[in-house]
Amino acid sequence: MRGLKNAKRIVVKVGTSTLTYETGKTNLRRMDKLVRVLADLRNSGLEVALVTSGAIGVGVGKLGLKEKPHDTPSRQAAATVGQCELMFMYDKLFSEYGNVIGQLLITRSDIENEERKINLVNSFEKLFEFGAIPIINENDSVAVEEIVFGDNDTLSAIVAKLIGADCLVILTDTDGLYSGNPREDENATLIPVVNEITDDILALADTKGSARGTGGMVTKLHAAQIATDVGIDTVVMNGSEPEDLYRLFDGRQVGTHFLPR
Ligand code: GLU
Repeated sequence: MRGLKNAKRIVVKVGTSTLTYETGKTNLRRMDKLVRVLADLRNSGLEVALVTSGAIGVGVGKLGLKEKPHDTPSRQAAATVGQCELMFMYDKLFSEYGNVIGQLLITRSDIENEERKINLVNSFEKLFEFGAIPIINENDSVAVEEIVFGDNDTLSAIVAKLIGADCLVILTDTDGLYSGNPREDENATLIPVVNEITDDILALADTKGSARGTGGMVTKLHAAQIATDVGIDTVVMNGSEPEDLYRLFDGRQVGTHFLPR
């Protein structure tokens, strides 16, 4: 199997469950480590884009709400609060490591409209040219049901495709795709490499994400389908130790690697 040693442009997606504690508050230690590793990968010459969730989750924590609201306006309002906080933290941490970031908030209609899509790609290309790190989230406060990506796993695959990334890495709270549900079946084993996302592979996904996140494994497999279909290596791995990304880009086996078609 070829590793990812030669990847040049990468998209990393991080979810709410990796960025926050169960209290809903930001996991600062994790975020700091992740930013440090991404800044270092950028310094080593990789072009790095980060797709981040957490706007709603962090907003819920910051507003002191007891749980993630169920109605759209409240979620959207929480996202406006959380998105500021997230970007404040990313800007502070990336700045400490000498890196510059730019924010891109995207809705599905931005991708479906050819002119807006071209503008978006141009912004990405310029940010890379300037040596900056694009940070992307769905524009939650304006995205109504008809135009939502709905989950950032899908969004990350669409971004990877849009900017012609070599590799998409989805960080999550399990080690990758298992032969069964590792929370219930102790014989479940990690699947290191998936050559093709068949119906049997899709059937392995548990639909439920965590209480704070959105997708679970189903949306990760769909994202892997979108990305591998256009030749992008996709890796689903645990985000709890961001330094594992070094091993991945050293060409070692980490998480579940979905090979491009
Ligand atoms: N865009 C949402 C947020 O930032 C997250 C969507 C997802 O969890 O996939 O809260």
